Amino acid sequence: MSEKNLIVIALGGNALLQKGQKGTFEEQYENTKMTTKKIADVIERGYKVVVTHGNGPQVGATLLRHDAGTKVYNLPAFPMDVAGSETQGFVGYMIQQALRNELKSRKIDKYVTTIVTRTIVDENDPAFSNPTKPVGAFYTKEDVEKIKQTFPNWVIKEDSGRGYRRVVPSPDPKLIAERYAIKTLVDAGFIVVASGGGGIPVIEKDGIATGVEAVIDKDLAGQRLATLLGASKYIIATDVDGAYLNYGTPQQKKLERVSVEEMRKYYEAGHFKAGSMGPKVLATIRFVEAGGESATIGHLFDINEMLENKKGTSILGSTG
Ligand code: ADP
Ligand code: MG
Repeated sequence: MSEKNLIVIALGGNALLQKGQKGTFEEQYENTKMTTKKIADVIERGYKVVVTHGNGPQVGATLLRHDAGTKVYNLPAFPMDVAGSETQGFVGYMIQQALRNELKSRKIDKYVTTIVTRTIVDENDPAFSNPTKPVGAFYTKEDVEKIKQTFPNWVIKEDSGRGYRRVVPSPDPKLIAERYAIKTLVDAGFIVVASGGGGIPVIEKDGIATGVEAVIDKDLAGQRLATLLGASKYIIATDVDGAYLNYGTPQQKKLERVSVEEMRKYYEAGHFKAGSMGPKVLATIRFVEAGGESATIGHLFDINEMLENKKGTSILGSTG
């Protein structure tokens, strides 16, 4: 059953950091303020909102801080799942503060809270035997030998001529562990920030959950969350105004309103790049196939128009 006025919004990297910025807290907070103005517009129109966000650059920086802490102060570095939880807290703090300040200034009596969220993945996911996602520091060929002694289970690969980097698996998100807490808060009227960075990846074995060193795609995890909450709409806000056919060629063509069947054909024909537009399109297909009314991919600035399928690329289900 879908809840008519519940919207899940997935924020892309540009919501927190612009190209060319260094990543100071002040920069990220200023960007967050701009982003939360758009979200406040949606709330002001009477929608319940759940926000999720990416954390690529943030978790990258956290891993480097741990790395430097080990070198300089001999402080033990934390594993990736912990680094993920750290970024959920820090980004959640920025969104909570900026969005609450914005709502307060508009005299809207709504509160914002962040849930540290774990995402359950399948321990047999093929991604675990084929890690592909580069994370953390760049190393030289000489470093690699030393690192392999300290971290014998790390997989290290050449990263497009820029040096050597650790690669981790990117398994498919299955279930949002904190779904009941999130639902309860949404029902009580809170604006919830959840599943940041796709959630902290955990596997469950004999009823025991354990964090794993992996990264989860935030758009795919956001779909699981949106579907579990019964949201009527899933919005993916990014730095392009939609999904294109033949992207980056003279024949490129923006898609506007597309049926889920048609979108699946384009997806299978390879129009959307793996790791960027691909997972967004797959997430919107899954959302609509699971009963969601519609899902839209578009530019962060156009969130309000995307709500009515007026901007961006909208994937429509049979009732949409
Ligand atoms: P986000 O941080 O929002 O997840 P990504 O970089 O992962 O951003 O995805 C958005 C990017 O996807 C765009 O900037 C664009 O370069 C790229 N992209 C790849 N294929 C397509 C396509 N077919 N249509 C539009 N954008 C595409
Ligand atoms: Mg992305």
